Formats: sequence, structure tokens, C-alpha cells
Amino acid sequence: MATGIRTRFAPSPTGPLHMGNARTALFNYLFSRKEGGVFLLRIEDTDKERSEKRWEEDLLENLTWLGLAWDEGPFRQSERVDIYKEALQTLFQKGKAYYCFCTEDELEALRQDQISRGETPKYSGKCRALKAEEAEQRQKNGEPSVIRFALEPRKVKFHDLIRGNIEFDTGLMGDIVVAKDWETPLYNFSATVDDAAMDITHVIRGEDHISNTPKQILLQEALGLKRPLYAHLPLILGEDRTKLSKRHGDFSIAHFRKQGYLAEAIINFLALLGWNPGTEKEIFSLSSLIKEFSLERVQKGGAMLQLRKLEWINAFFIRQMSLQKLSELSIPYLKEAGLVADASLKTVEPMVRLYQERIKKLFEVPELLDFFFKKPEYSADLLVWKDVSKKDISKALQELATVLQSIEEKDWNKEIIETIVMPHAERQGSRGVWLWPMRVALTGKEASAGPFEVATVLGKKETLERVASARKKLR
Ligand code: GLU
Repeated sequence: MATGIRTRFAPSPTGPLHMGNARTALFNYLFSRKEGGVFLLRIEDTDKERSEKRWEEDLLENLTWLGLAWDEGPFRQSERVDIYKEALQTLFQKGKAYYCFCTEDELEALRQDQISRGETPKYSGKCRALKAEEAEQRQKNGEPSVIRFALEPRKVKFHDLIRGNIEFDTGLMGDIVVAKDWETPLYNFSATVDDAAMDITHVIRGEDHISNTPKQILLQEALGLKRPLYAHLPLILGEDRTKLSKRHGDFSIAHFRKQGYLAEAIINFLALLGWNPGTEKEIFSLSSLIKEFSLERVQKGGAMLQLRKLEWINAFFIRQMSLQKLSELSIPYLKEAGLVADASLKTVEPMVRLYQERIKKLFEVPELLDFFFKKPEYSADLLVWKDVSKKDISKALQELATVLQSIEEKDWNKEIIETIVMPHAERQGSRGVWLWPMRVALTGKEASAGPFEVATVLGKKETLERVASARKKLR
């Protein structure tokens, strides 16, 4: 059902998709999907110095990876300059725009002066007084200038769907620069023009844009454009409760993806950054989020980003995954770590099966499974169980080898190995005397899957070789 609802995600390609802007994209996506509306993607690349193609690629690629498919776009503002020019002309015609020739130095001096008098710095409006013809002449003569919007100083009220009624005094703002020149509109201007041109009904974005809203509303009024509804999402805070920033680390989606966080887990995690279902439920698929999401359940207060929670959610999705899927996803990580040049599912599945319960992110897979692919490296001391002597451990391993040797190749599986080895191990007073060094001999690790499971995957020959190497170490 088409409801006429239209939302947009409008990132600037000046950095990667990260937890913050991805959350904005998700909430726009969820809201439009839930309401049967349209979700569009607009690349705000009017800042030529700071915009980079690689960031645009990163944004598109990672949005797609997260599963946040847009219905229209990507529209690039750099390709829409004519539309902004026309709107600038309209502003000029209505006497709401003017050239400003104030230099950086003049503006800075004004700022300092205002600050020293305890005032909020704002542009004085000096160039507003210039005669239009004179200003045009100076601009034509090549004198450096920008284009300002003659703001109407008044109270601007709007209703925010999350924060309720909001009022700003635009008299405190001064005339804003809307374009550096005719070819280079700035954010507030191009976004306002586009939101109208693209029939955006709901502007859902981060709280850091809340003070831009009155400026955009005045621009809409000056240009005779319709006002969309606004919803400003709560700030995302780091674990130290300050606004999330680069200082807190790398929060790009590409980074988390590389670490082996699943798209499903990141989506689930982002949804809970400011939204809550009103129940205890914590696990959501994208499709269940579409059903349950509502702007009414988005909080006003900052949302703390807790990586432990992300890890917990990720581990949950990993446990839920089919063994085949998890193995498929693990193979590239094993290759990347140089453990295998190529690996078939048939080889990897039995290994991954032993670890599915404990993998929190795919990045850990090589570290957990490496011993399957190469001889373990460890010190002889690790073989020692509690205060048992090395000599006795060596004897235990020798007896173990004899017992293992007696098991026929065709019977080499976890149940049979366990049934045969356990009674011997039990007879040692503590079964650790056999089981601990057996497990260390096979894995070289302090912690790992159990010795019988590992032996099964390694096979009889390799198991016996590793037990023999362990005994050599103890000599
Ligand atoms: N390009 C702006 C940003 O990335 C968009 C803000 C908005 O949604 O209006 O912050």
C-alpha cells in the first residue's frame, strides 16, 4: 500500500558509513517500510574539498551489506546544481538573498568583539544594506563573496515527532551563508531544496541537526516550499557517556564487518540505539523490526553504545546460524590468516561445529581453529596436569597412545574414542591426568574443545603423531 510517506538518508561522503549514520539510515528505512512508504538515498556531496568518491562507495557498499535497500537514488547533489541555482535565483528575486563581501578577518574580528561583550556571535548583517546593483557589480568584478540568506528574526516553532514542540529564536542566528557561489550551495540550502523537490514527508536525522531545522524552515517559507515533519534521533554516546566521536575508536561499519560481526547483528544492535520495543525482547530480525518499529518508542535521551552488547547479539546470531552458513563465512577468515589456501566445506564444517557455541565474531575463528591446520606450538609445562610430575604425564601419554592405537580406523569417532579412553582415565585417580595432556597435545591450548571431539576431527594418524610429539617435549 502506498501511503505517500517518503523518507531519505542523506549522508555526506566525507567519511565512512558508521554506527551513527547507519542508525539514521536504519530508522528511516524502518519507518518507511513499516508505513509502506519510500526510502531514498541522497549523497550530499556539495562540499567539493571534503567529499570523496571512496566514501560514497563505502556508504553504498555497506548500506547494501546491511540490507538497507533504498527505493530511489542514489541522487548526487553534485549533479543537481542547476536546481539549486534556480532556487537561489528565486531567493534573490524575492530580496531574501544577498552577496556578502566581508572578509574572513572582518568576520573574525566581529566574532571576537561579540564574544568579548558576552554576546552570542552572529553575522551583523552588514552587507544586507548594500544596494543590489552595487553588490552585483562588485561580484561581477570578481571580488570574493558568498551568498547569504536574509533571515527573518522571529520565533520558529515546530513539532518534533520524538522531542515534542520546539521553539528557536532565529534572531540569535544572523544571516546564514547559503552558498559559496552560484555553483556551490551549502548544506542547509541544498538539503531544504531537495527535501521539497524529492517530496520528503519525514526528515529523520540525528539530534545534532536540530538547530538547522529552524533555518531550513525559514528557507522553505522564503521559497514557498512545503514543510516536512521532523524527528530528531537521540545522540549516540560512548561508554564514557560523552558524544560518540573518533576519539572513541573506529566505529565504521567496514571495521565491524571485517571483525566478523554479522549484518543481522549490527542491524539488531543499531535498532536498540535509541528505540525500544516496550518489552524485554532483545533479538530482532530486520523483518520483525519493520513490524514493530515506531517513532513513538524512540527515546529523547542519549543512547549509549555498548560494544559488549553488540558482541552478545552477534554471538547469538552465530549460534543460531546453520553450520553450513557459519562454515562458509569462516573460510575467508581462515584464508586471510594464512591457515589454508583453499578449504572445502567438508573439511571446515566438523571443525566449526566444535566452536559454534563459543564464537563471538568471525575474526576469532582462525585463532580458535588454527591447530587443526598446523602443528600446535606450546611449552612442555602446559602438558602438566596440576602437581603431577612430567614423568607421570609422559607415562599417561604413552598408555593413552597404546589405547588409541587399538581403536580401529573405522571406529574412529567421538563416542567410541570416549567409551574406550574414559575407563582408563577414570582409573588414574583424577581423569585430568589423561585428559588434560591429551587435549593439550592435540590443540596446544589452555582452552579448547574437548579432546575426543578434536581427536575425531584430526583423525587417528594425526592424533597419534601429536601425542608422540608431546611425549618428546616432556623428555
Ligand atoms: N548530509 C547531512 C549529514 O550527513 C544530512 C543531514 C540531514 O539529514 O539533513 O549529516
